[in-house]
Amino acid sequence: MIDKNKKQYEALLVDLDGTLLNIDLDSFILAYVDALSSRFTGLVEKENFIRHLFTATALMVENSDPAVNNEKAFYEVFCPLIGQPLENIKPIIDHFYKNDFPALSCWGSEQKAAKAVVETAKAKKIPLVLATNPIFPSTATLQRLAWAGLKAEDFDLITTMETMHFCKPNPQYYLEVAGKIGCPPESCLMAGNDTLEDLVAAEVGMDTFLVDDCILLRSGIKYVYDYRGSLEDYLAFIRTLD
Ligand SMILES: [Mg+2]
Repeated sequence: MIDKNKKQYEALLVDLDGTLLNIDLDSFILAYVDALSSRFTGLVEKENFIRHLFTATALMVENSDPAVNNEKAFYEVFCPLIGQPLENIKPIIDHFYKNDFPALSCWGSEQKAAKAVVETAKAKKIPLVLATNPIFPSTATLQRLAWAGLKAEDFDLITTMETMHFCKPNPQYYLEVAGKIGCPPESCLMAGNDTLEDLVAAEVGMDTFLVDDCILLRSGIKYVYDYRGSLEDYLAFIRTLD
């Protein structure tokens, strides 16, 4: 881990999947897509459903209109592709998250140091943000948070598709987070396992901590970080903050 002159941080941003939560992301996504598409049997052919889901998600991630939240950006594309109005789709999606999504917890487990990270931030009175990519609805994020052994009350802000207007790796996502918590980006430390989506926070002036227990390397990109180590190392680091 690089030891640079320690800064005082006014806020800590931490990623969820692969950072605070141990997750087998590939298996989880396969099972997620399979279970969700099964709920649309009879309405949309499975293969088409999956294609449209990925297309709408990709366009939501690319959305750069600050007036359109991620949920709206997603459904504006997804509904016409599926050929169903939102009032038909929404109850199926809600039913899926209530009844099927909990079974996907088999792909996630607690990351040992996660609770201590939350407790440390709280003891030091440093605002803590669950800076998870807001491509999921609130219920899916709160459920995954519970798989990590954590609660919504542990965080000052949780980013979800309903409340955010940008997704990672758009640097605007990090500016929006900083704005919401009223903290200059230069005083924030972003920690996460993704060499693109999390480390891009540096582009708006945030410091970064690459949490490498479940490092997610992206091909073809050069990445830089201010600190690097396991979640245990991150915990040890934030314990030294004033
Ligand atoms: Mg991650």
